[in-house]
Amino acid sequence: MVNGMVGSFQLMKSLNKSLILNVIRTEGPISRAEIAKKTNLTPPTVTNIVGELLESNLVVESDLGNSTGGRKPIMLRINSTAFQVIGIDVAISHIRVIAITLDAQIIQSLKIKLPSNLTNEILLDLLIDAVNQIIQKADLQQQNIIGIGVGMHGLVNPDEGVSIYAPNLHLRQIPIRQALEEAFQIPVEVENDARAMALGESWFGNGQGVENSVSIYVGMGVGAGIILNHKLYRGASHTAGEMGHTTVDANGPKCSCGNYGCLEALVAGPAIVARTQTALREGRESIILQLAEGDFDKISGEIVYQAALQADPLALEILRDTGRYLGIGIANIINTLNPQKVIIGGGVSKSGEFILEALREQVQRRSLETPCQAVTIETAKLGGHATAIGAATLILRNLFAPEFS
Ligand SMILES: [Zn+2]
Repeated sequence: MVNGMVGSFQLMKSLNKSLILNVIRTEGPISRAEIAKKTNLTPPTVTNIVGELLESNLVVESDLGNSTGGRKPIMLRINSTAFQVIGIDVAISHIRVIAITLDAQIIQSLKIKLPSNLTNEILLDLLIDAVNQIIQKADLQQQNIIGIGVGMHGLVNPDEGVSIYAPNLHLRQIPIRQALEEAFQIPVEVENDARAMALGESWFGNGQGVENSVSIYVGMGVGAGIILNHKLYRGASHTAGEMGHTTVDANGPKCSCGNYGCLEALVAGPAIVARTQTALREGRESIILQLAEGDFDKISGEIVYQAALQADPLALEILRDTGRYLGIGIANIINTLNPQKVIIGGGVSKSGEFILEALREQVQRRSLETPCQAVTIETAKLGGHATAIGAATLILRNLFAPEFS
């Protein structure tokens, strides 16, 4: 946080306060007496802190609850719509920006195309402009915005709020937090996009309430976010979850990282396209080329999916192979981490029905019986906004559960 930054949210320095706030968030509407019971704090402490929370407008009193005899207790809930968080997903070709309420309802969203001649300065200006646009579009008051979360592909140092290396944009050392905090004077968090997605799914998607889960993003690249004991795991130098660069076929195609047979080189969007193009050049019959208007360069993951919907045998085979490779990668992670849930997001997850069967078959075959029985594999709930919502959740995490930051 920028030194000397003012605002009512400095108040979360008190752990008891965030503890109470989080109980109200997860259990509300809830009475003061129930909060005391759940937190093991004394009733006077609860009353004091709730007083401060009411004053800050983060919490409001709602309807009366049921009484177990005597006066009906006053119930408390989070004033979800009084404050907003901005979430930004910096992808390869565009930026997605959303404004959400404290319970992750999307107020407004916008998508901005990235120009091809990017520099650090141009990107930072675009981000500042994007935040200004969403503030206007959603008619937000700056003093009610709790913070800005940014999910960025590539290597990110979340402690410094710096994008260390964004391979697809060919940019290095982008001081995202510094630039946005200077521009808006509110707290900014930056995290890798797949890890942000995992956090979002863990708070608001299919990972809710799950202690240990892995969310895998499969789109233009492949990355994962690992939640251990409800906490996002970063690793020793912020690269935990780089599952896209684990080897699943030692003799496989060359990957963007220089290695051969990485998961990413077999299941990401470009890999699906490359396999399709090779098969077509070898003379395989398919409606794919026709859907791409006869242009090899127009073939996309989306077109392969469209062809699969029309039961095109080549498309079905390509997606089955994708599911098979993804299943091998996921079996490895299941054996390593023993998660309760594996959640698959990103563009490729749209083809879920065509890849999941082969994927599950490989998981069954290759993961050990005990962890295999413990795990559920699902597609992501938050869809196209998963990374942006996850980025905003970085700020919500600081507010409601700083012990997990
Ligand atoms: Zn690789």
